[in-house]
Amino acid sequence: MLLPLPLAGAYDYRLPPGDPLPPGTFVEAPLGGRHLLGVVWGEPEGGIDEKKLREVTPLPDAPLLPEVSRDFVDWVARYTVQPPGSVLRMVMSVSEALEPPRPVTAYMRSDLDPEAEGVRLTPARRRVLSVLSDGPPRLATELAREAGVTPGVVKGLLSAGLLDAVQLRPSPPRQPDPDRPGPELSQYQAAAADELLQTLRTGGFSVTLLDGVTGSGKTEVYFEAIAHVLAEGRQVAVMLPEIAMSAQWFARFAERFGAAPATWHSELSRPERRRVWRNVAEGKVKVVVGARSALFLPYADLGLIVIDEEHDASFKQEDGVVYHARDMAVVRAQLGEIPIVLASATPSLETLANADAGRYARLHLPERHGVAELPDVTLVDMRRTPPPRGKWLSPALTEALTETLAAGEQAMLFLNRRGYAPLTLCRACGYRIECPRCTAWLVEHRLAGRLECHHCGHSMRPPPQCPNCEAEGALVACGPGVERVAEEVAALFPEAAIAVMASDTVRGPEAAAELVRQIQDKEIDLLIGTQIMAKGHHFPMLTLVGVIDADLGLAGGDPRAAERTFQMLSQVSGRAGRAERPGRVLLQTYMPEHPVMRAMASGDRERFLAEEKAARQAAKLPPYGRLAALVVSGPNIARVEETARMLALKSPRVDGIDVLGPAPAPLATLRGRHRQRFLVKAGRDVRLQPYIRQWLAAVKVPSGVRIKVDIDPYSFL
Ligand SMILES: [Zn+2]
Ligand SMILES: [Zn+2]
Repeated sequence: MLLPLPLAGAYDYRLPPGDPLPPGTFVEAPLGGRHLLGVVWGEPEGGIDEKKLREVTPLPDAPLLPEVSRDFVDWVARYTVQPPGSVLRMVMSVSEALEPPRPVTAYMRSDLDPEAEGVRLTPARRRVLSVLSDGPPRLATELAREAGVTPGVVKGLLSAGLLDAVQLRPSPPRQPDPDRPGPELSQYQAAAADELLQTLRTGGFSVTLLDGVTGSGKTEVYFEAIAHVLAEGRQVAVMLPEIAMSAQWFARFAERFGAAPATWHSELSRPERRRVWRNVAEGKVKVVVGARSALFLPYADLGLIVIDEEHDASFKQEDGVVYHARDMAVVRAQLGEIPIVLASATPSLETLANADAGRYARLHLPERHGVAELPDVTLVDMRRTPPPRGKWLSPALTEALTETLAAGEQAMLFLNRRGYAPLTLCRACGYRIECPRCTAWLVEHRLAGRLECHHCGHSMRPPPQCPNCEAEGALVACGPGVERVAEEVAALFPEAAIAVMASDTVRGPEAAAELVRQIQDKEIDLLIGTQIMAKGHHFPMLTLVGVIDADLGLAGGDPRAAERTFQMLSQVSGRAGRAERPGRVLLQTYMPEHPVMRAMASGDRERFLAEEKAARQAAKLPPYGRLAALVVSGPNIARVEETARMLALKSPRVDGIDVLGPAPAPLATLRGRHRQRFLVKAGRDVRLQPYIRQWLAAVKVPSGVRIKVDIDPYSFL
């Protein structure tokens, strides 16, 4: 029996008399004084007196957890060096979904006449009644949304007796229709789609890299694969890195398949999660589009996985069970013997190495779809042509903005830093305002009037005087964030309509969709944004992209810094000139000779990748070597350091495995916890998990101290 708890493994229980419960049965199991939900996992270990075993009760209406889902839980647990119960917890994230589906309450008009009853009808109440005058009963939330009123208005009508409540069985979701005609594909798209379908028809496990520049139409190609799998009646999981920013993707999906897919992400309400989980388990939902966690849904019959923007760093989950959703998706596909498609304009070196080695098939879309051409990229050398003092836009970028706006076109400025300024400094004493709980500066958010820590969320009002020397008016903002760039641009172009797009200025999918619409309809001339804006959007009138600080991602000890910066800059540049109008890109840099900048300017991706591969190979870094990180953390610095010392002493000596550390992490404190890091390094053919398990077993961890195991680390902070 496996319980969704961070325990060592499965526990033995007694099954109720009668027919044996097959593995995968959801049950209620007593543990201590509690009753928990769990899953029948397999044969008992034995060795415990039968009389001492406690009995489980099966949940009568729950679906079975399929074998492939159970194998996946075990596999992920082994790979990430986590207890299987912690992984099962991700599968069983909505326990209510195991209960039989409840009828839902919907509302219709009652027979009462408002006038005869003396009920006052406000305009809002009238709108609700008029929505109900045509069509079926609706849920309270639907009703409020359609009428554009608050839920309170619906409640008021109900208590006034003007609405009748009816119980409905939840209706099955509308299914995407694979038989709708797709769009006309270009010659290259059609060729790629044909090859992909050929692979699908062959059946079994396969990985296909769909590699094409931004705007080349990868989405339409994998939509053909989705149509094929839907026509077979099987399920499809699509993973996108930024669901909230993907309104255009959803519109394209709905246009192609005539219905929206189910979604799975952190912003879903509890009832929605319950509905989607249950429908996925029963095979009633055919397409799920989600974030990382969509991988752990209990698919009844998954037939295809698609990972869009497979290189995106957000597929790495850093909390709890630390895993890379792309890599685990490949494993899930292998266990289920199904195809998986990885799409990207800038594939990760990991995926490219697998393609080079012939483990993955590779489909290439060589050009932009339609008439659009790749934008022209120019480097602005900030050492030779710097911006005016205290400003961030070089003369060349200001001039390009002037021309673009004068031509009636749109421009976008990119800076991957939220807020107004990353640092507040005292001019009198040099004091820097830091987070009290993290080794990090507080970022000024001037619009919100706060100083915020981007690591832990700590927030405070800007102090009136220096907290250190008490000097008045001596605190100054240092460096730019998107808000500050917006201020500079507004002063330069007072006539332009300007919008800032960052995760703290655009909250939720609806706000994002609205902003995207405003840009499409050209209600906005100039957009200033962070990476959330870099993804997938298509704005025909956007012809200029300016990158304020192209070097931003290159600092620090991350072995993937150059690769990631290249991916980010390519993606941002891809926003320029995606229709008939050619685009141009200006990158402001202090390092124009850096390989990333040279590659951006020349457009020679292959050469950059070759150099980057050679460098990684020489350093035995991923994908040509293996890494794992151990992060020891706790509120008591002495205990953390002592644990780290013990770990260092006990690290087993094995040829071909190097242990580096301990060393204080770059983020030496995070949320009040002190942190020490180890890095474990080995060749590609070495399995690090048994080594780490053996190592951890040799050390007793004092209370309050935690050791986080991170296989294939992507964060080196
Ligand atoms: Zn903090
Ligand atoms: Zn001071």
